[in-house]
Amino acid sequence: MYWHLDEDQRFLVEAARDYARAELIAKDRVWDATEQSLGDELPSLAEMGFMNMRVREEYGGLGCSMVVYSRILHELAYASPSVSVTLSVHNMVGEVLQKYGSEELRRQMLPDWGKAESLGTFAISEADAGSDPSSIQTRAELKGDYYVLDGAKMWITNALSGRWFMTLARTGEGKKGICAFWVDGNDPGVERLEIKGKTGIRGSETAALHYTQVKVPRAWLLGEDGQGLEIALAALDGGRIGIASQATGIMEACLDEMTSYAKQRVQFGHPIAERQAIQFMIADSAVELEAARALTLHAARLRDSGEPYTQAAAKAKLFASEAANRVAYRAVQVHGGAGYVNETRVERLARDARVTTIYEGTSEIQRVVIGRGLKG
Ligand SMILES: Cc1cc2nc3c(=O)[nH]c(=O)nc-3n(C[C@H](O)[C@H](O)[C@H](O)COP(=O)(O)OP(=O)(O)OC[C@H]3O[C@@H](n4cnc5c(N)ncnc54)[C@H](O)[C@@H]3O)c2cc1C
Repeated sequence: MYWHLDEDQRFLVEAARDYARAELIAKDRVWDATEQSLGDELPSLAEMGFMNMRVREEYGGLGCSMVVYSRILHELAYASPSVSVTLSVHNMVGEVLQKYGSEELRRQMLPDWGKAESLGTFAISEADAGSDPSSIQTRAELKGDYYVLDGAKMWITNALSGRWFMTLARTGEGKKGICAFWVDGNDPGVERLEIKGKTGIRGSETAALHYTQVKVPRAWLLGEDGQGLEIALAALDGGRIGIASQATGIMEACLDEMTSYAKQRVQFGHPIAERQAIQFMIADSAVELEAARALTLHAARLRDSGEPYTQAAAKAKLFASEAANRVAYRAVQVHGGAGYVNETRVERLARDARVTTIYEGTSEIQRVVIGRGLKG
């Protein structure tokens, strides 16, 4: 399904698909089993252009449309949901810089954004501020030409190999007291504490961050003073299309795995695929995959055409993430006992799917966004 991609766009999506299926499936299995970061894969991902998808060509990026970007994240997630989320976060942060950074900061940072060493993080959540980012406590104080940041962030993706941390911190009280800063992860005041023991996406890095007197040049404030929350929420609208694409990639992998297993597994003298009960699980999964893709690409197209897409992105993320969990559940069910051990891919995919209803806004928060939009 190409959704009217031109030849160049189709080439990019097919390159992602070929590379992901040839290279990433086996590696993802190792990252999962050893809980090892996929950091060593970043140079290859950079070389393929995947770290520079949403940066405009004038700054050296690929300037991919949101539809193409979504299709590529889908193909990567098919093979490795960890790779997909790593790149979804990195590319989202690059877009924030491109939109809200000063021209000087953009000229300084964006030409290198496609390099492995430039990995970006989106440091919003804190131990006591998850669904409600307006309650963050990390502080920033202006001292001469620098802001000085103190506080702690939690659950930050890419925060071990990451270099540039888009960080929300408060300079005052209330929602308007929050600013977005461009933080150098190499500052001596930044401490990274790896979070181990995740259920899934175990190749993706997750860490807590401690900031002690971290210095940020005044010119590295993103947007206006007090615009931080608005910037973060706008970025998350796009990020949700990325997570929905990750979810559809997981669904397609589950569908392929369960279909092929059902055709070769024989019980009672027949392949289980001949049983209607099994066919129904496969059929329901195929329908949900198409519905999730249609919602995701619809949101991406709205964004590409400059129309409002907050609602569409929330609907796509809500449906795709919940459907991914249903499809992964069925994929395990079709595999029987074999689906319950890590010899089969569906066991891992089911664990990877779980987080998609949690990060970048839980399902409940997507419903809040959708309900608010309907209420007007
Ligand atoms: C692997 C992983 C990677 C992550 N990466 C990042 C990252 O890169 N950057 C970042 O900033 N954060 C990141 N997060 C954090 C993630 O965005 C939060 O976990 C998420 O927003 C939920 O916040 P919380 O965990 O504090 O749960 P809480 O906000 O405490 O929510 C707990 C439960 O209450 C529900 N709830 C809360 N408020 C409401 C409400 N108003 N109405 C109805 N129900 C409600 C929630 O839906 C949930 O079910 C990551 C999380 C994980 C697990």
